[in-house]
Amino acid sequence: MVQVVLATKNRHKLEEMHRILDAAGLDIELLGADAFPDLPDVAETESSFAGNALLKAREIARVTGLPAIADDSGLAVDALNGMPGIFSARWAGRHGDDAANLALLLGQLSDVPERRRGAAFHCAAAIALPDGTERVVEGTIEGTIIREPRGTNGFGYDPVFVPLGYQVTTAEMPSQEKDAISHRGRALQALAPVVRELLGE
Ligand code: IMP
Repeated sequence: MVQVVLATKNRHKLEEMHRILDAAGLDIELLGADAFPDLPDVAETESSFAGNALLKAREIARVTGLPAIADDSGLAVDALNGMPGIFSARWAGRHGDDAANLALLLGQLSDVPERRRGAAFHCAAAIALPDGTERVVEGTIEGTIIREPRGTNGFGYDPVFVPLGYQVTTAEMPSQEKDAISHRGRALQALAPVVRELLGE
């Protein structure tokens, strides 16, 4: 069975990527980044989700010599002109501090009325092969930002994000329900046939 590395050290993203790709029924063996203790932290120097996803997949494919799948994702808030966007993971200044990022966002939006609290999660999912072949696809989910966190599933900004047409946050949804409609679910579902095509699985 072909081995593919999931190029993220974010435990939550890794869990979701595993779950979604497993559900897609691909005949591949997914390896987490933890299987490679010396994997570098790839600096996200591009200006788009797609650019950063490709950067990560390309570098991890080069270092491991295996096909690599990477995701770059974030929350674009209308009232903040699309920010935090690609800076979502480090919005409060420290990479991956979900609680601080969430508190800062809610503070910034404290005076923003309901009608202007629109936002969208975006995800770019990329695959890169050691021979230089690479592809990237994207997924989006629109919603609104509520004022108080609700729910304990998911991660990041999930406790304040209510998808359009729903009453619950993505942190109040069972995992499979989030996967079915989420930016990451949509991007990876779109990537699955590409993986099949490139790896013959
Ligand atoms: P990345 O590791 O650079 O892709 O950063 C992604 C960041 O965007 C995360 O640290 C979260 O802050 C946010 N984010 C991305 N996807 C989600 C999600 O599904 N739920 C909540 N927050 C997310």
